[in-house]
Amino acid sequence: MRRLARWLLSGALCGGVSFGAQTQSCALCKDRGVLACRPCATKTCANDRAVLHCSIAQACDECGGVRWLECASCGAAPEIDVARRRAELASWRESTRPIDEFLGRSDLLHLDTAHFRLAFDLKRSPFKTATGPHEAAHRLLELCERSWSEFVADAGVRTEDLTGVTQLFLWGSEKDQERASSKWALERSKSVAKLMGASPVITLCHGKGRVRNESDLERELVHQLAHCLMSCAYKSVWLGGKKAGWIDEGYAHFCELRRMGSVSVWCSLSEEMLEKLEPWKFEAEVARRAAAGEVLELSALSGLDTVALSPEQRLFAWSYVDCVVRAHSGRLGALVRTLQQEKPTSEAIQTALNVSLADFQRDWATWAGATYAVRRR
Ligand SMILES: [Zn+2]
Ligand SMILES: [Zn+2]
Ligand SMILES: [Zn+2]
Ligand SMILES: [Zn+2]
Repeated sequence: MRRLARWLLSGALCGGVSFGAQTQSCALCKDRGVLACRPCATKTCANDRAVLHCSIAQACDECGGVRWLECASCGAAPEIDVARRRAELASWRESTRPIDEFLGRSDLLHLDTAHFRLAFDLKRSPFKTATGPHEAAHRLLELCERSWSEFVADAGVRTEDLTGVTQLFLWGSEKDQERASSKWALERSKSVAKLMGASPVITLCHGKGRVRNESDLERELVHQLAHCLMSCAYKSVWLGGKKAGWIDEGYAHFCELRRMGSVSVWCSLSEEMLEKLEPWKFEAEVARRAAAGEVLELSALSGLDTVALSPEQRLFAWSYVDCVVRAHSGRLGALVRTLQQEKPTSEAIQTALNVSLADFQRDWATWAGATYAVRRR
């Protein structure tokens, strides 16, 4: 009846002749050929600017997450290719199935951005200000993208040289963490595990071990993301396993200190060593040791993998990276790229910073003397 009335009002009364501007014929979609999905109208994802896909948003039976439906009342060509978008979203959701299937789960939250994929399994938000796990998962990816942008700026890396997508898992149960870490990080761990290279993985359990609250979580992420991002740049070589642990752990400490104001994540140190460790204020500690003539020179750190670095060596590794990032702006990436070609640190410093290792060491002393004296933390 409605169609007949419309026909009478428009075409028929005008005798089939079109007069100037077309009259609107579909009151429902205003001739756009698409209608907003009603169940989705009142729901939006929080902090969704960077998020490309979200399994919660896609759980809508009506639209499959497209948020639009084709108008069934008229034949207007749809403004949005709803079918194509729906198929694209369904295919993304399919790509997350292997994780669900491996763990025999259907309730994990999956989200992704351009540079990260997240599988999230906390029933409560780890962030006090987030309304629930869904918002928290979005917030988590925001933190990851922030680390990504910081690495791009610190390293001066071109985005085409940083194409790896990092997979992140956040578990509430140690059992799931253990299974996921064995499967995807190739290392069984109850707390935190990571895999580095072209497709990095971080999997961690919240509420146990050293990740117990909001700031632990951010700290752990910032530290581990620094490792992952550096490892997937350029040729995707993890320098921590190629005798350049100083830049690998040094940069991770650099990111942790910059974001959190202190350092407390020490990769691959034994529990025994961790217990003995003094909570250094990094800048003050380096300044104190420099004044006492107890500098560990960069030449003495190069040639060691991350696992072989002592806490003191890590402290100075941090300071050398700090100097590269802040005093040789945008050159960290060139250094990483040269070290990935398995050149010795002395040659890499010469190539990337255009100074000899001896000159770098001398310039560092001057720079650290001036910088750490005024900003001690
Ligand atoms: Zn319509
Ligand atoms: Zn969402
Ligand atoms: Zn919907
Ligand atoms: Zn580390």
